Amino acid sequence: MERYPKSAELFAAAQRVLPGGVNSPVRAFKAVGGQPLFIERGEGAYLHDVDGHRFIDFVGSWGPMILGHASPAVIKAIVETAGKGTSFGAPSRLETELAEAINNAMPHLEMVRLVSSGTEAVMSALRLARAFTGRDKIIKFEGGYHGHSDGLLSKSGSGLATLGIPESPGVPASFAAETLTGVYNDLSSVETLFEQFPGQIAAVILEPVAANMGVIPPQPGFLEGLRQLTCERGALLVFDEVISGFRVAQGGAAARYGVTPDLTTLGKIIGGGLPVGAYGGRADIMRHVAPSGPVYQAGTLSGNPLAMAAGLATLAALAAPGVYQALEDKGRMLADGILTVTGKLGLPVTLNRVGSLMTLFFTGDEVTNYTSASRSDTGCFGVFHRALLDNGIYWPPSQFEAAFLSTAHSEADIIETIRVIGLALNKTEI
Ligand code: PLP
Repeated sequence: MERYPKSAELFAAAQRVLPGGVNSPVRAFKAVGGQPLFIERGEGAYLHDVDGHRFIDFVGSWGPMILGHASPAVIKAIVETAGKGTSFGAPSRLETELAEAINNAMPHLEMVRLVSSGTEAVMSALRLARAFTGRDKIIKFEGGYHGHSDGLLSKSGSGLATLGIPESPGVPASFAAETLTGVYNDLSSVETLFEQFPGQIAAVILEPVAANMGVIPPQPGFLEGLRQLTCERGALLVFDEVISGFRVAQGGAAARYGVTPDLTTLGKIIGGGLPVGAYGGRADIMRHVAPSGPVYQAGTLSGNPLAMAAGLATLAALAAPGVYQALEDKGRMLADGILTVTGKLGLPVTLNRVGSLMTLFFTGDEVTNYTSASRSDTGCFGVFHRALLDNGIYWPPSQFEAAFLSTAHSEADIIETIRVIGLALNKTEI
């Protein structure tokens, strides 16, 4: 940590009072064998650390910062709203406006409930699915991450995949038993579970574009097949679009792939960098949520005015013509540049990309599910990550996370990133 003495000092202090020195595990950089950098400020596509280095940021706070850091329109909305008070515990107009903005982009979210995190959104959506169907079991997919609620940690992606934790202590076996796991992109694995547990499965939940085992697109027919299977078996289809919502298209993965789920969970982008989550879908299902129905779910800070204002400003910017095409073009430019470099070096890597989301896997084999993602050489990834960091590129500190582009990344930023990736790969023995 010679290059980062102030970060090292702050990390030592943090470790005395915060478990592992962080408030969310992947931030600790454990998987890449280093120590985390402490961030002083963000500005557009850049992060500045406390030691005075500037980085081109491809983490984007793990997804929310699709407009880049400290976007002037978002900051203005937050400041203006904060001047009127930060929380009322009573309805405010902004909540309806955000729900309407979501509904405009995603008409299948006929009604929306706003909460404070993606975890809360998923937990609540599954409670609703269970109540609506009168069934207890849920199907998720190996390597899918849906927040840290009890029952959803088994065979999960994100930090659990990063740290090699198959499931968490503290989750009662009886809870975990209600979660069944299928294989992503493998419809027959889901059919088998429906056969094994007839009439017991309330919902199938998935990231329609997997992004927590690295980025894995749905293969043609997978989402359509799940739609058909859930309809036939009386289960609900839940798209967890906490990452993909307003990211892979304005209407999320449902719009990009033309498959409509019964319920959807959102977070990240819809809060513009403030804590937020949402779940929504068919009105006949959503009407079961209290107080219009019996399914209880509440929150002191739900619909918080600052989060609503930041989300509304973000969604307004994303509604401008050409935004998603520009994100697609930037994603393609970066991906093509990386593949040119790896091709020249003859390296066995696989790059998966959907729009402005991508993962460079350190394996030459195709990556279509968690098992194939796990074949990546994480040691090499660690060396690669450190080389990028020391040359001004802040790449996600895990093989099993997505890199995120924003509207703030310029062509020059992408060219510089490709140059540094070339240097890093030259040093990485794979
Ligand atoms: N669902 C998905 C697909 C996610 O990627 C995440 C977080 O990364 C969550 C749910 C949980 O969201 P949060 O971290 O806001 O609780």
